[in-house]
Amino acid sequence: MSSYRVSARKYRPQKFADVSSQEFVTQTLKNAIITKKTAHSYLFSGPRGVGKTTIARIFSKAMNCSNPRDGEPCNDCDSCREITAGNHPDVFELDAASNRGIDDVRAIQDAAKFFPIKGKYKFFIVDEVHMLTQQAFNALLKILEEPPEYLIFILATTNPEKIPATIASRCQRFPLQRIKISEIINSIRLIAKEEKVKIDEDSLFLIAKLGDGALRDAQGVFDLSVSFCGDKIRYEELKNFLNIPDKEIYFNLSGFIREGNAGEILSYFNELNSKGFDLQTLFNGITEHLRDLMTVISTGNTELLDESDSIKEKYSAEAKTFSAEQISRLLKVMFEAENRFKFSSNQKILMEVLLAELCRMNKEVIDLAKIISGLEAVKKKSLTEKSPESEDLKSEESIIPESITEYKPAEPEIKNTVQHENSVKKADKTNPGDSELIKKLKELFDLEEYKFN
Ligand SMILES: [Zn+2]
Repeated sequence: MSSYRVSARKYRPQKFADVSSQEFVTQTLKNAIITKKTAHSYLFSGPRGVGKTTIARIFSKAMNCSNPRDGEPCNDCDSCREITAGNHPDVFELDAASNRGIDDVRAIQDAAKFFPIKGKYKFFIVDEVHMLTQQAFNALLKILEEPPEYLIFILATTNPEKIPATIASRCQRFPLQRIKISEIINSIRLIAKEEKVKIDEDSLFLIAKLGDGALRDAQGVFDLSVSFCGDKIRYEELKNFLNIPDKEIYFNLSGFIREGNAGEILSYFNELNSKGFDLQTLFNGITEHLRDLMTVISTGNTELLDESDSIKEKYSAEAKTFSAEQISRLLKVMFEAENRFKFSSNQKILMEVLLAELCRMNKEVIDLAKIISGLEAVKKKSLTEKSPESEDLKSEESIIPESITEYKPAEPEIKNTVQHENSVKKADKTNPGDSELIKKLKELFDLEEYKFN
């Protein structure tokens, strides 16, 4: 393993055709090269690890190649080889995160004055360009305003909103996309094949997902996995090594939530916590699990899930046990807690509160749904049978589950309370038996979390 090279470097695409998920950008650049309609400045924006500097290098190669084919570099001529090796005299790369001052941009200004030494074009690839100081941006603007014929700037950034409008407006802008999970999987599968590493499908999924849309990050996880598992990567071993909560855990958690079993979920969580799982990963995992269930319920299939077939089947079955409304309420709890959780100094306690809240909320939504369907049944019955009022009320009361009769709203608004009293008073006059029921229902419907859209 000593000769093992980091995958991200070894397998960096050398042609536009090899770049994943950015067809819009690569095709546009290729067409510009073929029709000789290239611009002098480009702005590539997008998350880290999606190929910004990779595309910039391929572009500089194709423009300087002595034998380009269909807009692609040959990767064989002197110029191509030098750019690949990072020692072409006309292609400059600058990391603005560490060279952000006026002097650094002045050096570019000076270098830009001279004709290319070897190639046809002089390239300046400035990564993380949003980090430049205002002075440096002003100096850069001067070059961009009147660039010499041979000069091409490629500015790359993860924060395009921080680029002054005067700079951005002079660039052709290309927003790069996150890389699709399926493409990351394909890419890792190819690397594994090249490296003669056996890897199962579930491991491929796990590695691709940990990359979170960045191929470079996924390749990093793959390298790490190889260093631990050797040339045979098995899911069971890998997930233990990475200490990643298994998918099964989330299905167990949603099972407890479905049953409204706060006691069980808390003891299960404590068991998980003792295994040392990262709680932020667990939090994100629960949100993602609920989101996946919501997707399956909304679309009626599992096509949009980034999961293996065996996991997709489980989602199909699990989705049938929840309604869209239930899941959306649970997701709302998670989203509202997101920031609080991230910055909490005691994530363990907060997670316990959250899990108990998810159980409680889900139970009450089920109860409310039961009441509504019960009331509808009663209404239907009274319409068809025209039975005496008292009998209807009797059956209405029997429909209310115990937990609801115990339910106390947190802080009802004063205005609402007055309304309650009015309605209760009126109800008292007409029929003393249903006052309590009406009051409870009104309280329920007045609460924000029970409002139906
Ligand atoms: Zn070439």
